[in-house]
Amino acid sequence: MFSNKLAGIGMTSQRTRDRLIARLRDEGIEDERVLAVMRTTPRHIFVDEALATRAYEDTALPIGYGQTISQPYIVARMSEVLLGGGPCHRVLEICTGSGYQSAVLAQLVDQVYTVERIPELHARAKKCLAELQLRNLRFQLSDGSWGWEPFGPYDGIIVTAAPEQVPEELLKQLADGGRLVIPCGRADAQRLRLITRAGDSFSETLLDWVSFVPLIKGESK
Ligand code: SAH
Repeated sequence: MFSNKLAGIGMTSQRTRDRLIARLRDEGIEDERVLAVMRTTPRHIFVDEALATRAYEDTALPIGYGQTISQPYIVARMSEVLLGGGPCHRVLEICTGSGYQSAVLAQLVDQVYTVERIPELHARAKKCLAELQLRNLRFQLSDGSWGWEPFGPYDGIIVTAAPEQVPEELLKQLADGGRLVIPCGRADAQRLRLITRAGDSFSETLLDWVSFVPLIKGESK
């Protein structure tokens, strides 16, 4: 679906992406919608040119400012869990980072709202998403632990940095039946959680052990 310029060659080619998809399947990713979107989304444009040849390894990579683009397995896993509850129209993503997870989600749901606290990453992600001509996203530069209230409630909320505890505001902005996927805990003991809302009660399922950068309070100066 993307132009030749974005399709990549050699280590960034379709063949290389296909190998990554085969690996994600081996690792247990089952949602065909997620696999199909990741098969065609060029991850190499979200990293520095010097790292482009490593873009389809199943690994996190540095994106500057002490931050990383999430490992493809984690992107697939979190998307699969988020979409696993039925129709998901409006999604809030806390931590835009490179924008790769945002690009994957934008092809799977109607509208993505994404929040990042570092201005340079926010600007760069916007540029990449525009290059892919994905238009169903809104970007905000701020502390995402407050969510993004005016556009809520959301059918799904995904957080890709780890707080020690689930921010209360995010629970409030979850629609009835909505799903929050969030890594939680200290650096050495983070666990992915799925929190589902039914009316005013919330149920929680513990998933994979993970390793994310911490969720930091406040905008970056
Ligand atoms: N899903 C992203 C992961 C980015 S890493 C990707 O694949 O590229 C985590 C990001 O969270 C970093 O860009 C960091 O700046 C951002 N972040 C950390 N704390 C934040 C907060 N309170 N609000 C918004 N963004 C935050």
